[in-house]
Amino acid sequence: AQIYGMELVESPEENYENIGGLEAQIEEIREAVELPLTKPQLFEKVGISPPKGVLLYGPPGTGKTLLARAVAHQTNAHFLRVVGSELVQKYIGEGARLVRELFDLAKQKAPSIIFIDEIDAIGAHRNDSTTSGDREVQRTLMQLLAEMDGFDNRGDVKIVAATNRIDILDRALLRPGRFDRMIEIPLPDHQGRLAILKIHTQHMSIGEDVNLAEVSRLTEGKNGADLRAICMEAGMFAIRMERDTVNSEDFLKAIDKLSVDFDRHHFHTT
Ligand code: ATP
Repeated sequence: AQIYGMELVESPEENYENIGGLEAQIEEIREAVELPLTKPQLFEKVGISPPKGVLLYGPPGTGKTLLARAVAHQTNAHFLRVVGSELVQKYIGEGARLVRELFDLAKQKAPSIIFIDEIDAIGAHRNDSTTSGDREVQRTLMQLLAEMDGFDNRGDVKIVAATNRIDILDRALLRPGRFDRMIEIPLPDHQGRLAILKIHTQHMSIGEDVNLAEVSRLTEGKNGADLRAICMEAGMFAIRMERDTVNSEDFLKAIDKLSVDFDRHHFHTT
């Protein structure tokens, strides 16, 4: 459902099997977010507080959102998503109120996972400029910090945030009791790309000549979102040729096409 300013999902469908090449990161988030929700007594017995917030950082399109949704799926938690840039740009003057409502709703729907995408849009370190836009961002950030400080680690609301720009984040966000657990989500390596390609071709009719390891070697530097797009584009080439299986040639053409689009895009935007 799309509530004003946020997305609410009863329990997302994604699970850990839909995520390629992030085994270590999945382990980390299970320990930091899943375990406190499913086995809080473990933390009570040992006498430590689980983390309140986990920060996923790394380049775009690598599966940060996917990972957060999979944790919500695994724990049968509600998934509440907001986008930092939207909080301060789309709903001008209402960022702080939206943050308050987000936390109220999360508590009401608990167990729940709050996912704040592009947290750098509200959590970049402050400079001294005082345009009204900056003040709006600051108010929104202050409200977020206050909400985080105001609730209990042991409760069944967990916060996951994501950013491509950890370098510009305000230190205040990373202090103990806030986003004090950080998990890097890097670009996939060869094995990671192969795992992602397997996931995105599992429901496709793939010809015997297709070698996914070769596709992986030809896509160095690509992220999970690119790889998904390549699989879809390969399928489109097969459809255009009126074939019902996707062959090696289709994959090569798809890689070519997406590399060209990628270069063109970068040429225009930089
Ligand atoms: P952004 O920082 O741009 O929000 P993100 O890291 O949150 O990106 P996602 O939105 O999770 O990336 O990825 C976009 C899509 O790309 C996913 O829905 C999925 O289809 C595919 N994808 C990305 N990474 C992976 C992965 N590791 N395994 C499988 N699919 C992936």
